[in-house]
Amino acid sequence: MSKQRLTLIFISFSCIFLPHLKGEDIRFADYFQNITMRVDYFHTGNSQTEIFAIDRIVNDGAWAGSLTQLQDRTNLGLYFFEIIDKEQNIVIYSRGFASIFGEWQLTPEATEYGTFHESVRFPWPLKPFILAISKRASDNSFQKIWQHEIDPYSRLVNPVELKLPFKSWALKDNGDPHSKVDIVILGDGYSYEQFDKFKADAIRLMRELFSVQPFQSREKDFNVRAIFTPCEQPGVNKPHPNIYARTPLSLTYGAFDSERYVLGFDNRTIRDVASIVPYEFMIILVNERTYGGGGIYNLYSTVSADNKFADYIMVHEFGHQFAALADEYYSSSVSYEAPSVEIEPWEPNITALKDPNMLKWKHLVEPSTPIPTPWDKETFDKFSYQIQIERNQIRAKNEPEEVMEALFESERKFETELIDKMKYTGKVGAFEGAGYNQYGMYRPETDCIMFTRNRQAFCKVCQEAISKIIDVYVH
Ligand SMILES: [Zn+2]
Repeated sequence: MSKQRLTLIFISFSCIFLPHLKGEDIRFADYFQNITMRVDYFHTGNSQTEIFAIDRIVNDGAWAGSLTQLQDRTNLGLYFFEIIDKEQNIVIYSRGFASIFGEWQLTPEATEYGTFHESVRFPWPLKPFILAISKRASDNSFQKIWQHEIDPYSRLVNPVELKLPFKSWALKDNGDPHSKVDIVILGDGYSYEQFDKFKADAIRLMRELFSVQPFQSREKDFNVRAIFTPCEQPGVNKPHPNIYARTPLSLTYGAFDSERYVLGFDNRTIRDVASIVPYEFMIILVNERTYGGGGIYNLYSTVSADNKFADYIMVHEFGHQFAALADEYYSSSVSYEAPSVEIEPWEPNITALKDPNMLKWKHLVEPSTPIPTPWDKETFDKFSYQIQIERNQIRAKNEPEEVMEALFESERKFETELIDKMKYTGKVGAFEGAGYNQYGMYRPETDCIMFTRNRQAFCKVCQEAISKIIDVYVH
């Protein structure tokens, strides 16, 4: 917790050294046009180093973000970008984010160089400005790693809006995008004949999202729009079982050699398509039954729409994208390194618990709940270990998806019964085992949708983290 505080102090100091840096004082109309500027760049490097190179700067459609919440005070994300007015030297807009590069850098693939296409989006500045990108240092404070000067009237900045011929429509329209959270739903691997299926999948999975708190009680704070990008044949790329495909958004299973990790690396195309409608958050439905998905903070989340657990994948991955929630599970294998238990993680829902008195969700803990909080970890771990072995065998044998779904079903039943019986279930505490660490990392409740597939519910700490983000977009 002390590290987390240091981060906050660092940010506020950097504000003090620049004149007039109080974001509340910035009037949108004094600095911005009501359209979105998108800076595309290549993020290149290996496990040791990273560099940025501008690709292009374009008009990305209507500005859907807040007109008043211009500074990001949430302290979330591995990266952080700032738009600094050049003449006045003040930060006029900022946002935290995460990236595919940031995850990839912690995988074994990063012994060699790799390059990834990324974008930052912000309201269109009226005057020349500096785009600055910071990254978490080893103590989790943000340190500037790149900056680039941009003149919005330069020949390198294209002010024309892209008009693509894809069909788009509103699933939920609750009013002015400036004071709503705006979600865009894309689909990949849907054939021309499957328009009705895409529509139905989008409606079904949105219903799942809004059946979970706090989304349920705040549904009126959201707009949801969808865009249809069909292809010839149903399905997307699945390299592990040797099923190759080319689709409009190039979504693929097998990211970082994890067969269930679904990402889209063609960021330029995905962003161009999404720009048809006003949006801040993006969900990409994959027309597949094979279990899979992904979610990266402030980028997008993906979900295999036909899987029996699509409802869970949808909500879990959106939690990553929307509120930077960490995985609370620790038994499934992932390609990237687990966070260090030596440093307090910046994510709101896991803690290294260096000082129980400074627990970051202490306000939600009842005095009678011990910290750390006991739970039947041994039984749970023994069972989970067995499931992992069976899961790997099913994939190795290339068994039909029904077999995997049946395994997950039995896992859900056992875990639900086990967790329901535990003394501190339903209470907020600090339960050991979280963030890919079996020991030394703690989660807020015995169960949460960021931990198991048991029930469609976030723990109270995750709910609070999500509510805070909704607040950033509705004021
Ligand atoms: Zn949680």
